[in-house]
Amino acid sequence: MTDRRVGILALQGDFALHQAAFERLGVRVALVKEPEALERLDRLVIPGGEATTMQLLIDKFGFRQPLIDFGNQRPVWGTCAGLILLAGEVVDSLMNPLGLIDIRVERNAYGSQINSFIETGTVSFGKQEQPLEMVFIRAPKILDYSDKVVPLGMLGSNVTVAKQDNILVSTFHPELTDRTTLHEYFLKM
Ligand code: GLN
Repeated sequence: MTDRRVGILALQGDFALHQAAFERLGVRVALVKEPEALERLDRLVIPGGEATTMQLLIDKFGFRQPLIDFGNQRPVWGTCAGLILLAGEVVDSLMNPLGLIDIRVERNAYGSQINSFIETGTVSFGKQEQPLEMVFIRAPKILDYSDKVVPLGMLGSNVTVAKQDNILVSTFHPELTDRTTLHEYFLKM
């Protein structure tokens, strides 16, 4: 898995731990700080962080259209705030998301008292369902999705991992556990 050119958007947020997770798999990644760097990549992660801040930096540094063009062709994985940025619709007038996956999202949807928690949900990639520890930090919820979207992970009745063609999203932070299940899945997309 060493010859894949994986990038992580590194404007804000939790990019360093994603980098560490890929490195545990023997995959070197590029930290992306300018749009031109996208041209050298096969796939991109948009990490967790603060979606409004990341959006501000995306627009300030001219990333918006390059990210949309990239996501129309190549695999992109958004975790938490990254998911919010990739969504078709966010229930928040401050957000103007990239619209790369047909989901409707609510930010900070697990309420103020339980902004962060860890729970074991399930993922399934065509094979058998498997348990996966999921770390939620002021996490969003997928409220709705079109029939183009395939749910891949659940916590109770909530979809926590989903995919539409080459776009993968997760509402939690897979880079904060030892398991690299989702990182491995993304590398095979
Ligand atoms: N609450 C953040 C937002 O709505 C996302 C949190 C995260 O990425 N862990 O932007």
